[in-house]
Amino acid sequence: MSVEKKDMEKIVALCRRRGFIFGSSEIYGGIGGFWDYGPLGTELKRNVKDAWWEDMVRNPPEGPNGKEFQMVGVDCSIIMNPKVWEASGHVGGFSDPMVDCKTEGCKGRFRADQLCESPCPLKPSKMAGDFEKCGLTEARAFNLMFQTYVGAMQDNSSVAYLRPETAQGIFVNFKNVMDSTRVKVPFGIAQIGKAFRNEINPRNFTFRSREFEQMEIEFFCHPDESMMWYEYWRDVRIKWYESLGIRSDKLRPREQGEDELAHYSDACTDIEYLFPFSDETQELEGVAHRGNFDLRAHGTASKGKENAFAVIDDATKERFVPHVIEPSAGVDRFTLASITEAYSYDENRASPEFMKFHPRLAPIKAAVFPLVGKDGMPEIADPIYREIKKRFPCQYDAKQSIGKRYARMDEAGTPFCFTVDGQTKEDGTVTVRNRDDASQHRIDKSRCVEYLQDQLSL
Ligand code: ATP
Repeated sequence: MSVEKKDMEKIVALCRRRGFIFGSSEIYGGIGGFWDYGPLGTELKRNVKDAWWEDMVRNPPEGPNGKEFQMVGVDCSIIMNPKVWEASGHVGGFSDPMVDCKTEGCKGRFRADQLCESPCPLKPSKMAGDFEKCGLTEARAFNLMFQTYVGAMQDNSSVAYLRPETAQGIFVNFKNVMDSTRVKVPFGIAQIGKAFRNEINPRNFTFRSREFEQMEIEFFCHPDESMMWYEYWRDVRIKWYESLGIRSDKLRPREQGEDELAHYSDACTDIEYLFPFSDETQELEGVAHRGNFDLRAHGTASKGKENAFAVIDDATKERFVPHVIEPSAGVDRFTLASITEAYSYDENRASPEFMKFHPRLAPIKAAVFPLVGKDGMPEIADPIYREIKKRFPCQYDAKQSIGKRYARMDEAGTPFCFTVDGQTKEDGTVTVRNRDDASQHRIDKSRCVEYLQDQLSL
């Protein structure tokens, strides 16, 4: 029952129908590369971010060889002083190669390095550049940063940018965090937040959007220990995806070759996933060894000294600019991966489509149904629902046939449904239905919360 390429259309349709993801401003025809999360998608995405924060910041796995470290968080502004982006190299170099098509009636714009994946707008059966009428220009650099103005004046002095990554907010607050907390190297600063990139060809649903969210860690360590921490974070991150239900045969850690690495980087692994829209694995997250490039760049640009952000080792009194390991993940890409991973189809079921979300990610954990809206059943179901709701996201549904209610919960990916029926009045038991195999059995109505606690292990 593996999810295939053709299923992507069904997944997008289900996301829309059930309120996971809508196109942004749809009633006005939408806007390319922007998406809105509906009620179920919002819960799912929140669970993704909560799981990351809990597992990486509040309670990260033990360090290599039992080594102690601390993790703290920041929440920085989206618009920053433009000098940040000059120092980081984004103003000069955050660009993709772009080509235009000059052919009458086309006027397409493509990423020069992705022509073989970009259908020609005039002849979609061929790729851009392959149709004899294509008139592509030479490639030119297109800066991906969205520009805006701050304040009433709209001139060069007021130009600012929407951040294209959350990382720089962390770097420029490195000293603030060290001065205001008691963290010492090795330690990490984490941030979850929006980032914006004016992608030339947004596509593949939310995979390549122009507005998206990132979950980033900048982990500061001694240069001599940097490879150890790089390997630690790479392995921790791969295991994290597996722990949330991503099948390991669909995950590919791809170590970047020498020719791909940034000039300051010693190593980088892209953690890739096999989405149904492509035959090739695609990046979910990059884990990069960034050396001390960023702290030196900001030290030089803001204080005139490349070692302005050096720290002193208490024991050895050595002064050094920490090296940085950066696990940088996309919230929307992992949310999409969990949706495609969860999507299941079984024609033998009354409702063939169901979403097998990992229990931690499932937007709704349980549902309570009175079999019929009379005979005292709603009166029994209501307190059960209220009790569960105190502990788990839970829905009450009394509308339509029980089959339709199960189908609704299957599409939402709700792991368990409790039904109050005629027998409940006789022996105090309810039916529990399991989303994954549609099996049913009975438990005492007083045990619903305990049952969920055991089964969901949350
Ligand atoms: P790609 O090569 O796919 O453009 P990238 O290498 O430029 O990605 P990074 O700059 O490393 O991406 O950003 C870190 C993470 O942010 C990515 O691994 C991805 O999960 C997410 N991300 C980056 N660009 C986008 C986008 N346009 N839409 C959604 N998520 C994105």
